[in-house]
Amino acid sequence: MKNLANKSRHGISSKISLPNCGSRTDVGCVRDHNEDSLIVEHPLYAVFDGMGGHAAGEVASEIACKVISNRAPKSLDVAALGQAVEEANLSILEAAKEGVGKKGMGTTCTACMLEGEKLNIAQVGDSRAYLLHDGRLNQLTRDHSYVQQLVETGQITKEEARVHPNRSMITRALGSDPRMIPDLYEISVSSGDRLLICTDGLYSMVSDSRIEEILCSVEDAQECADLLVSAANNAGGNDNITVIVVDVSGFTEIKKKKLARKTKITATVIVLALLAIIFGAIFGFNAWLNNTSYLSVDGDKVAIFKGMPGQILGNQTNWKVETTDVSISDLEPGVQARIKNNEVKCASVDDARKLVSDYKKQISDNRVAADKLKENSASKTEGSSSENASPSSSQNQGSNQ
Ligand code: MG
Repeated sequence: MKNLANKSRHGISSKISLPNCGSRTDVGCVRDHNEDSLIVEHPLYAVFDGMGGHAAGEVASEIACKVISNRAPKSLDVAALGQAVEEANLSILEAAKEGVGKKGMGTTCTACMLEGEKLNIAQVGDSRAYLLHDGRLNQLTRDHSYVQQLVETGQITKEEARVHPNRSMITRALGSDPRMIPDLYEISVSSGDRLLICTDGLYSMVSDSRIEEILCSVEDAQECADLLVSAANNAGGNDNITVIVVDVSGFTEIKKKKLARKTKITATVIVLALLAIIFGAIFGFNAWLNNTSYLSVDGDKVAIFKGMPGQILGNQTNWKVETTDVSISDLEPGVQARIKNNEVKCASVDDARKLVSDYKKQISDNRVAADKLKENSASKTEGSSSENASPSSSQNQGSNQ
């Protein structure tokens, strides 16, 4: 049994988002080995049911699995898919000729390629592809079997075919005819549909209505595949059972997912940019507060403050650096008013100190000037008193003479 499961034909590390898919192959309850094989290698999904006696069926299905995995196209091309199936047929015939496996060994093949809402199928034998659409199960492929011919000619019903003693007789298989050609299908599917590919070990044991019920009721594709196999085993598991369940994701859905991912990334970038701006603004504002300064009053003295006067959102935006020994009353009235109103801004604390030092010098100069003025005024008063006293003295002297 060959199992090429759960990888992309574009490479395992491909960033292509794979559809929701589940698969399982099981020996069943009666057979002692599993001759089924499967490929789950997006966008290629295939099942094979080998036949031909002990070990030979397994060899045939493995050869088909390997050749189709290698030769199927990378993207949808139904003719190329059919060509890959024909090459698998020739490879099985060649292997039998060379003594690999057994002469007369063969296998069914239901190979599907699903991309967006397009499905290609190459079909040989009685393995099947079904599509669940709007909750209804539809068989997509036509069996190459004896009982299918009986059904088509109206000799038996589909339900009778399921339990017919010759239900395993197939009329076309890989490994039986070098001119074998597969049936090819090109089908449009819809987002939300569910593709089921299976060997007869499933549908010969489980009715279509029960398969439909399971496909409708189990959301997870892998759980669904597991439950289908369990249902076949619970019904007796007379044959090997292989199922692949693939949920169709249309291009519209893929575009929506990409858009949602892009929107999420853009929103994250915007939030990060806003946070950077906010933190940058806070950092810049704090740096500015630390560097800027202004003069105010502390009691009757001039004080130096850092920051800016007032508050922002209840937070203090200033703090006192020092109280100087300059009395506010010693300053000019205009300067006093500006300092009291916090209008004297400085680029830094050093600038504020220099300004206070200038004020001190100014106060000192004013005092010196005032003292000089006072002295001059006093000496003028004295001089004037002397001048007024001299003539009366002369007069007195003259009259004495
Ligand atoms: Mg079978």
